Amino acid sequence: MSDVERAPTDWIVTPPPTPWLPIVGDDRRFPVGRIWCVGRNYEAHAREMEELSHRRTTGEAPFFFLKPATALAPGGGPVPYPGETELLHHEVELVVALDKRGENLSESEAERLVFGYGVGLDLTRRDRQNEAKARGRPWSLAKGFDKSAPCSALEPATRVGHPRSGRITASVNGEIRQDADLSEMIWQVPRVIVLLSRQIELLPGDLLFTGTPAGVGPLEVGDEIVARISRVGRLEVKIEAPDRGTEKTGTAGPVR
Ligand code: MN
Repeated sequence: MSDVERAPTDWIVTPPPTPWLPIVGDDRRFPVGRIWCVGRNYEAHAREMEELSHRRTTGEAPFFFLKPATALAPGGGPVPYPGETELLHHEVELVVALDKRGENLSESEAERLVFGYGVGLDLTRRDRQNEAKARGRPWSLAKGFDKSAPCSALEPATRVGHPRSGRITASVNGEIRQDADLSEMIWQVPRVIVLLSRQIELLPGDLLFTGTPAGVGPLEVGDEIVARISRVGRLEVKIEAPDRGTEKTGTAGPVR
């Protein structure tokens, strides 16, 4: 008998809680397993990023990266300015929530996996990301830090259908910074699902952040971001002072 078969039922620590999102018009919760993000899905944003990184990328196939499910900030709210960055950026994105599994899907099958839609912010430590790009290093900590994925409650597709057009905006302190239409996506949602399903098996609980339009920009402590997608919802986030409690630093705590 292997160690795994013999394993007792007690956990050494309390198992991590399942991250989740509320659902509009439903008292149940949507459990989040993985957060897949499209790296580039609006032409104008691809161009502004080329200017930032001095690299030509237009015309390439979409690429994906992950945020951990623990990076979710359900319903938005306060987000502490993350450490080790001086350039935190907002990216408003349509979020797709999947409630069925599927791999090697065809375009006509893709929409059947979709439970619903939300409004998300792909918060990004842009200075760390630019450094990672320049050195060929992973983006994990540029993109996957705590609370880097604020997301609204989900609108079920049974209520709102499958929005393929509609205004998507982000304002900071009342000033519109990002303003585009979902129809401007280079790869529409079913296509994104098809392409991802060729590389991994999509699972119930997966979220897809579908890429951001142009107009990304820096955030400061005290900034209030309002992200909106017509028919899908609204998300509010406030950037708070860095979360650097003395009990967390290890060096500033009481000497034992
Ligand atoms: Mn993004």
